[in-house]
Amino acid sequence: MGIARYAFKGKRRFNIRTFDTGDTGEFTNREEAVNEFVENLLVINKKQQKLYSERKEGVIFVFQAMDAAGKDGVIRTVFSTLSPHGVKEYCFKVPSAEEKSHDFLWRFWSALPPRGFISIFNRSYYEDVLVGKVHAFYKHDIVPDRMKEADIIAERYRQINDFEKYLYETGTRVVKIFLNVSKDEQARRFISRIDTQRKNWKVSSGDLKEREYWDDYMEAFETMVNETSTKNSPWYVVPADHKWFARLLVSRIVKKTLEEIDPQYPPLDEATATMLQEYRKTLIESLGGEDYYKEQEKQPKEFSDPSLIPAEMLQQEALQKQQESEERLKQNGFKAVRKLLATNYMIRSLNDIVEAVAQQGDEDRLEPSSEEGANEEENTRDAAEIREHIKEIVEANQEDDDNA
Ligand code: ATP
Ligand code: MG
Repeated sequence: MGIARYAFKGKRRFNIRTFDTGDTGEFTNREEAVNEFVENLLVINKKQQKLYSERKEGVIFVFQAMDAAGKDGVIRTVFSTLSPHGVKEYCFKVPSAEEKSHDFLWRFWSALPPRGFISIFNRSYYEDVLVGKVHAFYKHDIVPDRMKEADIIAERYRQINDFEKYLYETGTRVVKIFLNVSKDEQARRFISRIDTQRKNWKVSSGDLKEREYWDDYMEAFETMVNETSTKNSPWYVVPADHKWFARLLVSRIVKKTLEEIDPQYPPLDEATATMLQEYRKTLIESLGGEDYYKEQEKQPKEFSDPSLIPAEMLQQEALQKQQESEERLKQNGFKAVRKLLATNYMIRSLNDIVEAVAQQGDEDRLEPSSEEGANEEENTRDAAEIREHIKEIVEANQEDDDNA
């Protein structure tokens, strides 16, 4: 199943009262979704490389949600395989005095992505028709008389549509994602943030206060989606009571968006192609001439998929010790990381990997390869060695990065 039923492109109306925030699509549990999630991230990684190399189109992914709907977790996981050089996240908070002294779209111009780049808007100008609408902040603005007569929120919908249309026509695509969590699930997440010491920093009294306006917010979200969904700048409403499903769905949306853009590595012009061939000759000569390729063939092959960095790191380290068992180790590295993703959807620290590999090793003793002659003792030794080795790395890099 795709993402069509969650997409709003200007034709279908969004009704927030009948929307199922606990929806998990065709899945009954997160384990079923893991493989697809990992695969989507790999595709996203590849497409971003092309997007960046092509420098044709910029993309903005806008995220809006009530507090604790999981925005940060979605962003952290779904964009985790992107290369930092082509992506930037902007968190828009309560406007500063300087920002307030300008029109409401002013502060977003400097966050627009250059062609080939992705901007993530963690909150956006949509706050001005959400919190701005719920609390009617615009009433306190000092503005020319003509603005006092206007229906400010209705005008903002139109101005936002104009702004996004302008961006689309000038080379920037805007895709909007609303993580829709239920009021009960929000309460559960707030309780967990209060009960868990390492999550305490996330709780603010403001969050609890905004919860009192829940119904007003729901009305504002519904109207926002209905007023600002267009074919070229669609809204996606993502059921967010299950974090794993929200993350999966957003990975589909990002993948689909990049597939639609369909970026390609730019072709070389003839002069550059000739120049590269000249360079190549010089380089090969500097490495021993004709025998160069023969020598290369003798070199051990590196794993070719750089996208799953933790898995690859695992593999690379292991490879140095056990070159013959490379394929088997690769499979187990992936397996361990996939399992980790199944339970967590994220890798918080190297310790997580150590534990996953250790468990994997214990469970199936790093499954014997199908090759004849591979014996169990050897496999167990592999597991122990990797574990030891990774522990060393972890100890050398001990750091508490637990921000689940
Ligand atoms: P976190 O996950 O860390 O809580 P957050 O996005 O909720 O992230 P906060 O600093 O808690 O960050 O909240 C930002 C606040 O800024 C939100 O309450 C949001 O409504 C508010 N805000 C953003 N834009 C505007 C705006 N234009 N006018 C008024 N308030 C705004
Ligand atoms: Mg907050």
